[in-house]
Amino acid sequence: MTSNQKSVDIVAFGAHPDDVELSAGGTIAKAVSEGKSVVLVDLTRGEMGSRGTPEIRLEEAKAAASILGASDRLNMGLPDTQVANTRENQLKVIQILRAYKPQVVFANAPIDRNPDHGHGSALIRDSFFLSGLVKIETKDEQGQHQESWRPSHLLFYMQDTVFEPDVIIDVTDHIETKEASILAHASQVNVQNPGDEPETYISSPTFFESIRARTRTYGHRGGCTHGEPFKLGRAPIMLSTLDPLFDRKIAR
Ligand SMILES: [Zn+2]
Repeated sequence: MTSNQKSVDIVAFGAHPDDVELSAGGTIAKAVSEGKSVVLVDLTRGEMGSRGTPEIRLEEAKAAASILGASDRLNMGLPDTQVANTRENQLKVIQILRAYKPQVVFANAPIDRNPDHGHGSALIRDSFFLSGLVKIETKDEQGQHQESWRPSHLLFYMQDTVFEPDVIIDVTDHIETKEASILAHASQVNVQNPGDEPETYISSPTFFESIRARTRTYGHRGGCTHGEPFKLGRAPIMLSTLDPLFDRKIAR
């Protein structure tokens, strides 16, 4: 990152290198297809996962980002299983937000199965606000002063724990891209020949099928085939046109 870092439209944070793909991969692919620029930021390297190594996971994450069309992928290197909403970590997130100046930020949900997800969610939520305060000073990697920046929208994605969504994004045309990005994490998901490493919650083909079932379920709720659900982190959203209210493909 430099002081003249090119701004992007979206920064999507995930506590672990596969969180964004599993929960919002279709939305990221859709955003890119609509001409939006996206940077992915992993808080940790997922080094405490039962399968794979940090090196393997880094390579898999790069491949997945390429499949989704993200323009860059960063890893903050926070300790896996110890993600914490501290001022030190907030300043690291603020540096990223001020460097990329996104309008939209995605993050893990506040309550989820893995404790890092909730802690990471709180870290991003607080940093999102604090980044707009001019008296919180940060410097970029060249030591240059960074201007304050507060993004417009924060959306929490659904990974494991179900919540009542505020927004469902139609990802019907991007479900294959989403699944390809998930399969890029070959050490973690859809492992066809378990035995070399421990089986995990997400390693079985059954889990992979459940990801498609999830988007199918929320697609049905929203009136499309595949939909990804989100909770608004900073409601309400202002509509400058009523078009979204009339963008329903089927009657419900
Ligand atoms: Zn995770």
